[in-house]
Amino acid sequence: MTYIHDTILKLQKTSPAQAEFYQAVEEVLDSLRPVLESNEKYQRHAIIERIVEPERQIMFRVPWVDDQGNVQVNKGYRVEFNSALGPYKGGLRFHPSVNASIIKFLGFEQIFKNALTGLPLGGGKGGANFDPKGKSDSEIMRFCQSFMNELYRHIGPTTDVPAGDIGVGAREIGYLFGQYKRLTGNYDGVLTGKSLLWGGSLVRKEATGYGCVYFAQYLLEDKGETLAGKTCLVSGAGNVAIYTIEKLYQLGACPVTCSDSSGTIYHAKGINLETLKELKEVRKVKLNAYLEVHPEAQFIAVNDYPSDGHAVWRISGNLAFPCATQNELTKADAEALIANGCMAISEGANMPSTQNAVEIILKAKIGYGPGKAANAGGVSTSQLEMAQNASMQCWSFEEVDEKLKVIMANIYKSTRDTAVEFGEPHNLVLGANIAGFRKVADAMIEQGIV
Ligand code: NDP
Repeated sequence: MTYIHDTILKLQKTSPAQAEFYQAVEEVLDSLRPVLESNEKYQRHAIIERIVEPERQIMFRVPWVDDQGNVQVNKGYRVEFNSALGPYKGGLRFHPSVNASIIKFLGFEQIFKNALTGLPLGGGKGGANFDPKGKSDSEIMRFCQSFMNELYRHIGPTTDVPAGDIGVGAREIGYLFGQYKRLTGNYDGVLTGKSLLWGGSLVRKEATGYGCVYFAQYLLEDKGETLAGKTCLVSGAGNVAIYTIEKLYQLGACPVTCSDSSGTIYHAKGINLETLKELKEVRKVKLNAYLEVHPEAQFIAVNDYPSDGHAVWRISGNLAFPCATQNELTKADAEALIANGCMAISEGANMPSTQNAVEIILKAKIGYGPGKAANAGGVSTSQLEMAQNASMQCWSFEEVDEKLKVIMANIYKSTRDTAVEFGEPHNLVLGANIAGFRKVADAMIEQGIV
């Protein structure tokens, strides 16, 4: 289709060197083909031209002083992509790889993910090329304060409500909120993922991982299967991976892997969740420390990974849960998973599968929950946190978890029903993109050319 080609060419000129962003746009546009062909209104209102251009992009200097007294400078970002359905909503990522391309791909994906939840949320994303690893608490605090010294002008409970993402957990949200409050004098719900002591919601920490497993559960139910007894491959060892593993155990499955940037743990009798939490949530150390407690497990260092992919996906398992980062599951990985009998993949991370991998997965017609549908439990529970803050209420764990289950069931249903409507029942990429797009695009048309 020429419009895909033309759009990418135009983006390459107006937003150069943003490979991940073009990848996300191309995937969405490719699956919108049937809806664009049958609805000239989207063309008449220049929806594609408008939807790929963020409403606003903020880039800023983040200067801070390290423990040795040296001045450090990082680059901060907030991309307010689309507010047709509600205030901009999306996490902040602190990772050395962060650049404009990564933040824009994440923000673009977030528009459709948030639309799929059925909640009043626009799409945005932000972060900095700051590496929290190895930094002291004081350094993290000074960085977060400096980051907020600029960000506070752009956010607000009804305008833009950031949350966490890679490298931004409860500690960072605490320091960011403290500085926001000091600068504005307002104690309001301007960030989600807050501590339970001061405005956070139960289940927010667990929500992305739990939601990703609920999505897999609904996928399997449609195939007359359950999670019970299934061997599961999980990548990552952070927030999303940990609570994916926790929920898999609760539903009777056996997660046998996890990974971080140093390597992969394979523990055939099942990953020990208590050890994993101790290493990653408390001690914050590399995964090879897992062997100190469980010497029978296997550690595969990154240097020993296959040259064309990731060690996790070369292990035999029934289900796969990519929960670390973008493009961590390659074409060769997808082929290995399928050859080993994997029956479904549910993505906890954002865009973890490369474009070639997605093609292979869709062709094999195994169950596939793309990130923007399968990992939407996090942002949905963020919205539940906003609702509790606005009404000054605190709901119980069970209450929030129940709402999360219902939201994930609705996301699954609308994704699947849309895939069926367009004649490709197994293609939930198409289902998720079209279902999300229609809501945003129709809202944009009703709100005029803005
Ligand atoms: P965390 O920072 O808690 O954990 C990230 C994990 O992935 C860590 O184990 C990290 O290893 C690993 N990782 C990150 N980057 C790389 C890399 N380049 N190569 C290898 N390993 C890597 O982040 P989250 O768990 O919050 O996020 C994971 C994914 O889920 C991301 O794609 C995020 O966008 C997505 N997501 C998160 C949501 C949330 O609510 N937190 C919501 C929806 C999506 P190491 O520590 O060694 O770097």
